[in-house]
Amino acid sequence: MRFSTKAIHMGEEPESMQHGDVVSPIHLSTTFAKRSIKEVEEGYVYSRSGNPTRDSLERKLAALENAKYGLAFSSGLAAESTILLALLRKGDHVVAFDDLYGGTKRLFNQVMERFGIEFTYVDAREPENVRGAIKENTRMVWLETPTNPLLKLADIKAIAEIAHERGLIVVVDNTFASPYFQNPLDLGADIVLHSVTKYLGGHSDVVGGAVMVNDDEIYEGLKFHQNAVGAILSPFDSWLVMRGIKTLAVRMERHEKNAMKIARYLEEHPLVERVYYPGLPSHPQHGLAKRQMCGFGGMLSFELKGGLEEAVRFVESLEIFALAESLGGVESLIELPAIMTHASVPKEERENVGIKDSLIRVSVGIEDAEDLIEDLERGFEAVRA
Ligand SMILES: *Cc1c(COP(=O)(O)O)cnc(C)c1O
Repeated sequence: MRFSTKAIHMGEEPESMQHGDVVSPIHLSTTFAKRSIKEVEEGYVYSRSGNPTRDSLERKLAALENAKYGLAFSSGLAAESTILLALLRKGDHVVAFDDLYGGTKRLFNQVMERFGIEFTYVDAREPENVRGAIKENTRMVWLETPTNPLLKLADIKAIAEIAHERGLIVVVDNTFASPYFQNPLDLGADIVLHSVTKYLGGHSDVVGGAVMVNDDEIYEGLKFHQNAVGAILSPFDSWLVMRGIKTLAVRMERHEKNAMKIARYLEEHPLVERVYYPGLPSHPQHGLAKRQMCGFGGMLSFELKGGLEEAVRFVESLEIFALAESLGGVESLIELPAIMTHASVPKEERENVGIKDSLIRVSVGIEDAEDLIEDLERGFEAVRA
């Protein structure tokens, strides 16, 4: 079965439904009655440990990443926390990409470090930098590709080979590409995770996280900790995510088409210094993007000529793009990483990774591209004025 078909049908097979429902019902019951003592350990027992609606979603999630298992959590960060708690212990070391989602860095540095887990950040665009940071106590390599907000790429296959020589677990945050454009497990990663809040949910109305894996032992550890820690996705939110996933393929096609048009428009614009979009031949890792992704997604960033003041004037004058954090919904969003999503990163560190004050990040929605471009033109007029 191919992607679009799986996205619609997997996990919601009518024969697995009590009444032949074509859409998974929302099972709100927290507990499940048994007919006899003999059955008390069979089937569903309590909704934290297992729920029919969440199960449907988890089967669908697995199918999207060609994985054996899927797990749904109450947020992307809840999924990340569970991965770390399940697989690491005091004294372990993780090598991570230096351009991670801000909340991931906060979880690593301000929470996990307190429990004696160590992190080293490297520019993972160069796989040898990952090799160079591996120590005696390294257990895990943590990647995000493409990264936020500079759309840097890590070569998943090359890094997985380096990590596996040393028996390390490779985790890939695949939120930006979505499973429609990139499947890290097929490239050698051991664990793939998503903030389903973004493209999988797709409508900016549900916060959730997902983890997909093939390895039985890793899965057993994650499943135990999903229940033991308890950060599960609710039945209603599970249903919303399933509803979102059914249109993932058509949404991603349009996100990408619009993003490509906008990237080209921006690249030609005299008031733009630089555009970051993996689909542009000018992107320094365009070749890698073509190799490991089957599309380039809907996220892009650009540097405006001028500074923060011009960037503020630009984003404040738009009418269709909402000035907002987050990404991956049907509606276009725009934001200034230096003072919004990445404000918690110290200025010096921001500049080291390449985030300038005039950088503008765009989550391109699925509206009409011509309307979006006219809106951006409004922004440039405000800058010129
Ligand atoms: C949003 C995001 C997260 C965190 O997910 P939440 O659902 O907000 O907890 C993690 N990684 C990336 C790349 C994200 O964009």
